[in-house]
Amino acid sequence: MRPPLAESGGELPRATSVLAVCAHPDDESFGLGALLDSFVERGAKVSVLCFTRGEASTLGPVGAELGELRRAELAAAARELGIGRVELLDHPDGSLSCEPLERLAGEVAAAAREVDADLLVVFDEGGISGHPDHCRATEAALSGAPGLATLAWTIPRSVAGALNSQFGTAFVGRDEQEIDAVLRVDRTRQCRAIARHVSQCDNNAVLESRLGLLGDTEHVRWLRPPGSEPS
Ligand SMILES: [Zn+2]
Repeated sequence: MRPPLAESGGELPRATSVLAVCAHPDDESFGLGALLDSFVERGAKVSVLCFTRGEASTLGPVGAELGELRRAELAAAARELGIGRVELLDHPDGSLSCEPLERLAGEVAAAAREVDADLLVVFDEGGISGHPDHCRATEAALSGAPGLATLAWTIPRSVAGALNSQFGTAFVGRDEQEIDAVLRVDRTRQCRAIARHVSQCDNNAVLESRLGLLGDTEHVRWLRPPGSEPS
């Protein structure tokens, strides 16, 4: 059962050790940056597990060279956000959904044990931008650590619709009643972290527009609330 919005009161859930599970270098900053920064500000230890090196991006150099560049960018962005531990795996960017779920889930389980996580933070099940890699990363998180509370970053349906009509994108948003908390955030460190992803952030109009539409708020929903039984 999902705690109602009123109960969470727009407050960040309490956590000691947060593990963010992402598909690509930059997801932790472009997507989860403000949220992860809020956890660091509240004294939580924050770690990131990223499944791919983002080598399929059409921005920057190509192939393995891009993968190495993005590894360095991720490390620099993580420092800006106060993220203590980053684990970057080398699953193929763009075809994470073809990787065996069992293997991905095992990697989530190992990372969660390593950092003694008490909360997972992921992209919402629609993948936010609709990218299948994002959906798969979230699926792996839910499957790999069934005893852990899992909080999804999401966006309102109105914001998704505005982006999609402006840019022809496939963002997936949520109705108000599907959103568990609206959190006030400070984007200062997120913006610094975004700037560290030099190969990806130049003229990123979609990102700029999304951050403009969201202002100083981020939206979250429980995929697995604290205290729920393992599924
Ligand atoms: Zn991504």
